Amino acid sequence: MAFSHLNNMAFSVEKQSPGIISKATFPLRYGAYSEIRTSEYEFIFNLNGEIKFIRGLNVNWPHPAEQLKRTDGNDWVFYSVGDVGGDKGIISWMGEYYLPCLPYPSNAVWEINYFANSGVMNAFAAWSQLYADLYGAQGSSGLHSKTKALISQVLQNHDGVLYERSQELNEIIGGRVTVLPPDTRHVDYEVIPIIIADGCLYHCDFCCVKSPHNFHKRSESEITEQIQRLKIYYGRNLQNLNALFLGNHDALAAGSELICFTASEAFNAFYSGNSRAITPFLFLFGSVDSLLNSKNDLFEQLGQLPFYTYINIGFESVDASTLKFIGKPVDASKVRAAFQKMIEISDSHTNIEITGNFLVGEQLSSEHYKSLAGLLRDTPGPSNGKGAIYLSPLKDSPKRRELLPRFYEIKSQSQLPVYIYLIQRL
Ligand code: SF4
Repeated sequence: MAFSHLNNMAFSVEKQSPGIISKATFPLRYGAYSEIRTSEYEFIFNLNGEIKFIRGLNVNWPHPAEQLKRTDGNDWVFYSVGDVGGDKGIISWMGEYYLPCLPYPSNAVWEINYFANSGVMNAFAAWSQLYADLYGAQGSSGLHSKTKALISQVLQNHDGVLYERSQELNEIIGGRVTVLPPDTRHVDYEVIPIIIADGCLYHCDFCCVKSPHNFHKRSESEITEQIQRLKIYYGRNLQNLNALFLGNHDALAAGSELICFTASEAFNAFYSGNSRAITPFLFLFGSVDSLLNSKNDLFEQLGQLPFYTYINIGFESVDASTLKFIGKPVDASKVRAAFQKMIEISDSHTNIEITGNFLVGEQLSSEHYKSLAGLLRDTPGPSNGKGAIYLSPLKDSPKRRELLPRFYEIKSQSQLPVYIYLIQRL
């Protein structure tokens, strides 16, 4: 790591932190990154010199543990620690110590308009100022060669380039990832997306992320091309990315052959040849039918892969009238059978964990809540402590913050951990 100072800027080039993302009350850095500090802000860059985080160090910054994060989709997300600590704090409903406040409409139970906070908005102005200062500093004498290289990289990645890069990612994978599985919170939503299938089996009426297409798989050659292009796209920063998201809305329905083909090709392209102490993660969505139709050999094969795999299933409700009301063409009996299978698979495969989603919303009936609470109360979770249930507020639900007491009521009865699911894009 090289340190140097220039005017009001302190540079730390290629700092190395543990690759594993820890859950902590304060934002811990992970992987390899560079940092430029001024007296008022901390700017973090990835190994390609792209801005990733900004954290205020001044008295106007809302909280020392809060920060702005730029995603690969070029969204600036504000990580808030909320206004309540302890048992009823964000950790109790998100499973994390922060709440991602998104710059686009979503289904949050608690919305924070960070654009209205002058302390946060000043951080964007500070980022523009830093860019101008770096531009002026690039020819300065006496700087370490690595610091000069960092300045040059950051200058190349101005806002226009960062936007183009996000568009390039969408072009490589054939469209934007409109929703990530809730389990990707374990890697701070930092995933490499590889789309192996488009569309989904149901086209539920309530769903705000569905595609108009019928379900169809991508070919092996299309997938191989994505992987090759993604390897070039991520460049040096690939070493910081320890997770794949196999998309899109029901990758489990693509079957064992395509899932395992993709995971193996991606592992060889991204992870082989470097000595990693970390087991990479594989995330995918599944549906009630794709889970029920998956034979044992799919899970046997997934279990052989050098990944820890999370599969997230959209159950939505175990109440027949609610399934009809939300326009999900699935029988309640199938939901129960898939729920049971979710637990059995997590129980019997060391490196596979299946989680499930249910809906909450003002519009849903008491039958929905009664049947859901009963299911979670009466079904023991996997004996190894795996699995989680995510409650997803309906997007147009009024009074979403009032859903929190309902959430705590369900959580208190459940034998599995229960969290809120925030619909978040890549
Ligand atoms: S909830 Fe899932 S299965 Fe239903 S339309 Fe949305 S993506 Fe498709």
